[in-house]
Amino acid sequence: MLKLDIQLFAVPFRKTSKTTKRMRRTHYKISENATSTCPKCGATVRPHRVCKECGTYKGREVIKKEEAE
Ligand SMILES: [Zn+2]
Repeated sequence: MLKLDIQLFAVPFRKTSKTTKRMRRTHYKISENATSTCPKCGATVRPHRVCKECGTYKGREVIKKEEAE
């Protein structure tokens, strides 16, 4: 039989030590959200979303913003 040191089968979670589990999960990270700047007002916006500051998307007004405030 071939000598394999790799675990090729499912391991019960109680058999995996806290350290092993934590070491594996050190690579699980959330990434920062992608951002771009609004061409009209220069505010930081998420791509493919309407700008919250001026209410425009692709240079077109989508949401009417009140000027009174
Ligand atoms: Zn804007």
